[in-house]
Amino acid sequence: MRTISIVIPAYNEEKNITPLIASIKEHFPHDRYQYELIFVDDGSKDATLTQIEEVAKHDEHVFYLELSRNFGHQNALKAGLDYATGDAVISMDCDMQHPPHLLNSLIEKWEEGYDIVYTRREENQSASFLKRKSGNAYYRIFNWLAEVNIEKGTADFRLMDRRVVDIFTQFNEDDLFIRGLVPWMGFKQAAIDYHPNERLSGKTKYSFRKMAVLAISGITSLSIRPLYAAIYLGLTISALALIATPFVILSFQPRHHIVFIWASLLLTIVFFGGLQLTVMGTIGLYIGKTFMQVKHRPTYIVRNSNLPDKH
Ligand code: UDP
Ligand code: MG
Repeated sequence: MRTISIVIPAYNEEKNITPLIASIKEHFPHDRYQYELIFVDDGSKDATLTQIEEVAKHDEHVFYLELSRNFGHQNALKAGLDYATGDAVISMDCDMQHPPHLLNSLIEKWEEGYDIVYTRREENQSASFLKRKSGNAYYRIFNWLAEVNIEKGTADFRLMDRRVVDIFTQFNEDDLFIRGLVPWMGFKQAAIDYHPNERLSGKTKYSFRKMAVLAISGITSLSIRPLYAAIYLGLTISALALIATPFVILSFQPRHHIVFIWASLLLTIVFFGGLQLTVMGTIGLYIGKTFMQVKHRPTYIVRNSNLPDKH
């Protein structure tokens, strides 16, 4: 019988572990496949790990990877994928927002021959207005700037065939943005739409600030188009300045418009000061990313695990 791995990054999810495992067991197609559950404890500060260890003692299907500290959702997920052995690997969140009753639909699409089956969240009415609107705007900006298109509402709830996982595990990027890399990889992909549940317990780990960081790192990890934007912007403004030059010379009148000249000069300096800082910041960001990447540090560190040696 073929095996399906389910990878679940967990950060401070102590109350969600048991219900999630129960729900997965209820919905998994046991008649057709074996399964392994790999929890990645991403440096939780609560009893998440103890909870998992407790279940793993009596359940040969439950495994865990304990990371040495919090490495963030994307790195935790990568860790799980690296260690998964199944013929297909499903990744999902630990808070039941990704409904386990969809497991069978994901697997059925895979059986039809798709290599990647991803999910699209229908408009989440429970998310705050700000989170929804900013999410939509972000996908629009992202698709405009990045070289790949990500669809609205896609998150890290998907199935990947072994072939895809084997390629993905070779990636060693410092700032992973998995939901952008998946469309980038190509393969035969299919989508499933779903209604997200409410988070079962605890609160979201993605504050607005963390979302903003993920948003920027998403774009800059997949595309250098913002650098082109800087060049176009610079060229356009220089062209405008050239066109304006004759008008300025012609309008020169001694002893008049002193305040006007002074004010417009100040405005121009401030405007271009801001613009230059923005452009320099953008360039700096890419240099910073290069700096982090050339160190080739591991993107996560495993402190402990109950996975057998074949992993
Ligand atoms: N998560 C993680 N490390 C982190 C933050 C989150 O492993 O640093 C996990 C978290 O436990 C959950 C998933 O990533 O299983 C998604 O996080 P969350 O539900 O907080 O995000 P949201 O659904 O609100 O976008
Ligand atoms: Mg969630």
